[in-house]
Amino acid sequence: RAKSEGRGTFRFFEPDMDAGLEARRQLELDLRLAVENEEFALFYQPFVDVERQVVTGFEALLRWHHPQRGLVSPAEFIPVAEDCGLMASIGAWVLETACRQAAAWPSELAVSVNLSPVQFRDPGLADIVEAALARAGLASERLRVEVTESLLLQHSATVLATLERFRDQGIGISMDDFGTGYSSLGYLSRFPFDKIKIDQSFVRNLDDRENMAIIRAVIGLSRAMDLSVIAEGVETAAQRDILLREGCREMQGYFFSRPKPADELARMLLSIGCGTTEADVDMPREM
Ligand code: C2E
Ligand code: MG
Ligand code: MG
Ligand code: MG
Repeated sequence: RAKSEGRGTFRFFEPDMDAGLEARRQLELDLRLAVENEEFALFYQPFVDVERQVVTGFEALLRWHHPQRGLVSPAEFIPVAEDCGLMASIGAWVLETACRQAAAWPSELAVSVNLSPVQFRDPGLADIVEAALARAGLASERLRVEVTESLLLQHSATVLATLERFRDQGIGISMDDFGTGYSSLGYLSRFPFDKIKIDQSFVRNLDDRENMAIIRAVIGLSRAMDLSVIAEGVETAAQRDILLREGCREMQGYFFSRPKPADELARMLLSIGCGTTEADVDMPREM
């Protein structure tokens, strides 16, 4: 094999490839242990209705506290979990935990959970969700799921059946990272979405004319299709003002709050007297 190409080449590339494979194998091993040892936690980031100046709910974002490496980003470990067959059990843990934690919040607050396409391969996903709701005693109307466009490329009857069961249960369905995938606009009507999340890549450069045109189109589309719309990744007051002017009143982003650990959130909800959260949208930059 590569040996015949000369010693230099062979020796130069092989260790690097091995290092990559080895790191990946180690991550897989660590991830299996993480499931057993429950090294996961959920952080929560608020959705803000900027017009009414209230927090309407929180998105659950998975965190992994690796014993040696510290906090590992979901962008790094979720693809690995999906590949090595661990996403179903991690996803079930997320659902269980998010429902239980949200059940302790004021009842007007919703919780939004990201679902991996891999979880939809299980035709029992809707049962898993309903069981988590029942165990937590959380009303199904308070749960929302977020899926990305890649899920719909599977063209599977199971995906549609599961999403329709969610809808029939009163569970909200958001299309996450809208505009970044490859799906057709037709999916918006074929699948029972009730909310579009404008991806943060569009929110990031509102100075760009074409970018702004896309945002306007998405907001117009959501209105025409009777879907609600939320912008993610809002980091500045200027972005908030522009989006609000364009008719997008719900937002999420570091400007309002970074994702917070569950216990910190619970304390915060208590300190503001639970009830209707008059959470000031200017105040909690580092809520
Ligand atoms: P996402 O669902 O689109 O979540 C938004 C991501 O943007 C989060 O990153 C959040 O922390 C980050 N973000 C929020 N506001 C801002 C902002 O103003 N500026 C910037 N630069 N970023 C902001 P995070 O928590 O690292 O999660 C990354 C992705 O991992 C998520 O993207 C989601 O696709 C996936 N993910 C997270 N938790 C779960 C989970 O429990 N299950 C599954 N299947 N996927 C998850
Ligand atoms: Mg999301
Ligand atoms: Mg998103
Ligand atoms: Mg995103």
